[in-house]
Amino acid sequence: MTLVYLSIGSNKGDKVNFIHLATSLIANSDDIKLVRASTLYESEPWGEKNQPWFVNAALEVKTTLSPQEFLSKMQNIETKLGRVKDENTPKWSEREIDIDIIFWGNEIINHPDLKVPHPYAHKRAFVLVPLLELIPDFIHPVIKKSLLDIHSDLEEPEDVYLYGTRIK
Ligand code: ADP
Ligand code: MG
Repeated sequence: MTLVYLSIGSNKGDKVNFIHLATSLIANSDDIKLVRASTLYESEPWGEKNQPWFVNAALEVKTTLSPQEFLSKMQNIETKLGRVKDENTPKWSEREIDIDIIFWGNEIINHPDLKVPHPYAHKRAFVLVPLLELIPDFIHPVIKKSLLDIHSDLEEPEDVYLYGTRIK
C-alpha cells in the first residue's frame, strides 16, 4: 500500500459537483481507498489568468496500483467527467476536472508521462493550501522542506480562499 496525495480542481460548469463526483469515483475505484479529503477552496487561475476561478481540494488515498495504472485510472475519470483534450486544447484552459498526482509516498518518479512530486506543486498555493490541512509537516522529497515552510516561503502566492469566504 502506498500513500498517495492528489490535487483536484475544476473551473468549468458546476465546479463543486465535479469535485464531489471525482472524489466519489476515486473512492469507489478498485484497489484505491480514500483515506481523507481536505475541505474545498476557491483559487485564482494560474498561468492563463483570463479564465474562471477554480475550486480545489486535496485527497489522501491508499493504493496497491502501480503509478502508471493509477495515472491511467485518473485519466479515465477525467474523461468520464467530460474533460476533452486534443491538439487544439490550449495548455491552460478551462476544465471540468483536473486530477494531479502530487506525492507517491516519498518516491521520486521521472517518467515522460508521470513526474512525481508534481513539478509545480511547490510553487502553487492552490496545491499547497489544501494539502496543509492533511500533511503540513510532510517533507517534500525533492525540495527537502516541509509543506508549511514551502508555503510560507512563496513569494507571490495566488489568492486561495476557503470555499465560500471569497469577497467578490
Ligand atoms: P496540467 O495538469 O498540467 O494542467 P494535464 O492535466 O493536461 O495538464 O496533464 C498533462 C499530462 O501531464 C498528462 O497527460 C500526464 O501524462 C502528465 N503528468 C506528468 N506528471 C503528472 C502528475 N504527477 N500527475 C498527473 N499528470 C501528470
Ligand atoms: Mg493534470
